[in-house]
Amino acid sequence: MERNGEGHEFTRATLSFLLLSFRVASAREESALLISRQPGRNTKPMSKKFRVFATCDIGESIELLRKRGYEVEVYPDPQAPPKKLIIEKVKSGIDGLITTLRDPIDAEVFAAGDATLKVVAQFAVGFDNINRADANRYKIPFTNTPDVLTEATAEFAFFMLGALARKMWAAEHLTRENKWTFWHPYLPFLGDEVTGKTIAVIGTGRIGLAMIKKCTGFDMNILCYDPAYQNHEYVLTIQETMDLRHERGIQKDKTWIKYTSFEDALKQADFVSVHVPLLRENESAMPTYHLFNERTLRMMKPTAFLVNTSRGPVVDEAALAKALRENWIAGAALDVYEKEPLPADSPLRDPAIEDRCRLYPHFASAGKITRLSTDPDKGMAGRCVQGLIDVLERNYGGDITKMPYVVNKEAFGK
Ligand code: NAD
Repeated sequence: MERNGEGHEFTRATLSFLLLSFRVASAREESALLISRQPGRNTKPMSKKFRVFATCDIGESIELLRKRGYEVEVYPDPQAPPKKLIIEKVKSGIDGLITTLRDPIDAEVFAAGDATLKVVAQFAVGFDNINRADANRYKIPFTNTPDVLTEATAEFAFFMLGALARKMWAAEHLTRENKWTFWHPYLPFLGDEVTGKTIAVIGTGRIGLAMIKKCTGFDMNILCYDPAYQNHEYVLTIQETMDLRHERGIQKDKTWIKYTSFEDALKQADFVSVHVPLLRENESAMPTYHLFNERTLRMMKPTAFLVNTSRGPVVDEAALAKALRENWIAGAALDVYEKEPLPADSPLRDPAIEDRCRLYPHFASAGKITRLSTDPDKGMAGRCVQGLIDVLERNYGGDITKMPYVVNKEAFGK
């Protein structure tokens, strides 16, 4: 995202255009947000006027909250507000806080809202910016937006993989820079095909399973790794689909899918796609922080490609840059970084690895409907706001453990 004055204006103008063009579709979906379709959702008009601070604009869903009687203040800049300001707003007694992955939400914030802040509604499925233990200590529920971004994120991961392997960036540069001076069987370079290759899907949760589905369509063999959740029924169904496609002549070669160990997945795959949450040492028995490091990157084949759409700190970037420079692996495509936006001096920007390192701006869920639809079954905005409404308006009989988008239900059990 541009940070100078000119870029800032451009960003705002683009944002206004996007929001305007989205308004028509949103109006149609208005009823989806206001009229609950899930059992347990309260459809009665609200009696108390709730106050909400949103750390960034999430489009038409904000207007829908206002129409519902909420008093909503939206931080006007496209950049994240300083933490000091978030604390100030929380201290002023707001009932709800809408956040994005850019906002660090920890004990300081929860303490500021002790006894007043009723919910933090995160506009993302990942919530590594929110300190869960602190939220639990202050007994403040926080919500996220799972499922609605699953397909968009998985398809983007797949497109990143294709762009990387088939050298689409270099090919377009060649054309645009007028360096395409002849057609030749192998000059100036060739790419690697995706069809028929083997992929390792690391993390078989929502997005990992969607990625598996997309890879099936490209006749790929699939290695799955997930130490905490293994969906054997899904894998069996994919195998049946593969067998049927082969039997009916839709795919030439027989393909397979199986769960395996992390090490075997890395050793055998032509592509490795990462779909895990960011879990630090103190947050899980199986942390994912720097899951990809010098040791594990060296396990991959020198012809293999790494794709990361999960969270930046899952990959040790210094180790990855070294792996690319020294050709331990063939390439990497990244959507997320240890520090975002990607710093100007990042080793990943090294021109020596430019041809095999694709870089995207945390963009995998950035589809129009996925990001902004006010329908909680389609868009992150709709689902984020619905999560907020559920808590504030005491849907599900006020039982937080029954609210589908509340993450830290463990703090509210009987
Ligand atoms: P999910 O919770 O459904 O799936 C995550 C899976 O990872 C789970 O099955 C879990 O068991 C597994 N896992 C946990 N620790 C692991 C480990 N050490 N090794 C391997 N697997 C492990 O979550 P999801 O909806 O699929 O989303 C996954 C992540 O993708 C999110 O947490 C978020 O950080 C990221 N994400 C990024 C974007 C983007 O725009 N780039 C968009 C959406 C989600």
